Amino acid sequence: MSERAPPIAWTPAVFFALTNLAAVTLVPWWWLTQGLSGAAWLFFGLFLVLSGLGITVGYHRLWAHRTFKARGPLRVLLALSGALALQNSIYNWGARHRVHHRYVDDVERDPHSIKRGFWHAHMGWMLRNWPTSEPDYSRVKDLAKDPVVMWQHRHYWTLAWGLNLGLPLLLGLAFGDVIGMLLLAGILRMVVSHHFTFFINSLAHWWGRRPYSDDSTAVDNGLVALLTWGEGYHNFHHAFQADYRNGVRWWQYDPSKWLINLFAWT
Ligand SMILES: [Zn+2]
Ligand SMILES: [Zn+2]
Repeated sequence: MSERAPPIAWTPAVFFALTNLAAVTLVPWWWLTQGLSGAAWLFFGLFLVLSGLGITVGYHRLWAHRTFKARGPLRVLLALSGALALQNSIYNWGARHRVHHRYVDDVERDPHSIKRGFWHAHMGWMLRNWPTSEPDYSRVKDLAKDPVVMWQHRHYWTLAWGLNLGLPLLLGLAFGDVIGMLLLAGILRMVVSHHFTFFINSLAHWWGRRPYSDDSTAVDNGLVALLTWGEGYHNFHHAFQADYRNGVRWWQYDPSKWLINLFAWT
């Protein structure tokens, strides 16, 4: 790459640096010296599941690809769970994701093209002001008509901070472990869930099998599926993006699919 890299996007760069640093230093240090409560671990797990499913079932399969329909209360629940994951609003996420599918692997257009390297696809694309990272709203005109999507987009930062900072704070007060709750249910949970999702853009375009299509770098990777509620069957997903399933075989781990089936059944 001989071209010059664009300027650093300071807000996300500093935010990611601090949260990742805290996750590998502050959390173990506090754990070893002060201990962490069972309640903090419980909400770490609960929030990890909720935010993960908000992204896979909500952001990805419901809104970005419209692979199934859902009613009002479930849509609001998914919009809130997705905001807990701190991956930007449904509107911005969907706009970038649709461009990723349309122009996958194109370094000039794919927001997180693996052709710029593993690190770029994983996180690097958010750390600089790449022109490809600009959301293209012309691709999400349908989402602009969705009241839940636009409500979440307008109030995104209030919701995101309320859920990621306010809620752990309140739970910490309720269970008598404010610092532990902020560290586990807040910071560590968010950092872990970030990297699990980011692996779909990096690892699931890098290492695995391509049983369905050779048209793109997307691969099926069972390990990524395990970490992302079934999203690791990415070769299938790029080949059949309108399908609500990612893992189509009965033995493949795709709890997002099971959950959508359960919603449909109820
Ligand atoms: Zn997709
Ligand atoms: Zn992809």
